[in-house]
Amino acid sequence: MKKWFFICLVIFFACSGIDGEGRRLVRKESTKEFIYVVYSSSFPPDMAMKMRKEIEQFYQVKTKTLPPVSLPKKTMTAIQGRYQANRILDWMKEKYRNKNAKVILLTNADICTDRNLNGKINPNYRIFGLGVRPGNFCVVTISRFGNKKVERKLAYVVLHELGHNYGLEHCTTPHCMMKDAQGKGANIENEPKQFCKKCRNLIRK
Ligand SMILES: [Zn+2]
Ligand SMILES: [Zn+2]
Repeated sequence: MKKWFFICLVIFFACSGIDGEGRRLVRKESTKEFIYVVYSSSFPPDMAMKMRKEIEQFYQVKTKTLPPVSLPKKTMTAIQGRYQANRILDWMKEKYRNKNAKVILLTNADICTDRNLNGKINPNYRIFGLGVRPGNFCVVTISRFGNKKVERKLAYVVLHELGHNYGLEHCTTPHCMMKDAQGKGANIENEPKQFCKKCRNLIRK
């Protein structure tokens, strides 16, 4: 936790210290950026392709697909079929450490984390997704989306988790995509795919 806070501080000061010339350089570099999309071997490939388009349109970056993966046993929990999202992120950090770019993993497996809700820790709490903030890795699952509007819900969570990668925290502004779904995600399929002004300005590209 401390480490991430420190990295946040460093990035904050690094960005705030850049002059006009520097800003132009940063923007120039960011246009070359791309994001890798990887999916579980049982995840529908056509849906992954649609998510690539969503990411490209929203973040104005290019995307590439990496070979499909199986979640390793070491990321499993004691609960049958449920995987620890934090362990998945650790595994991704190791596996894709040479990529030097953001990597998003799409899966249909159940994923969970130890979640603090109203001061109480809920172990193995099922979630839609988890992303390092700021960082290069996030994981999103379709396992709890039911059968309706799956792609719409998935796109929302994909863009949300990448928002964390870009440094955004949860936001309380109504209809901002960075709001905390608390693992329930009521009506995310009806929410606009957009950030509030504050979050838009905070994106670290
Ligand atoms: Zn979040
Ligand atoms: Zn916001």
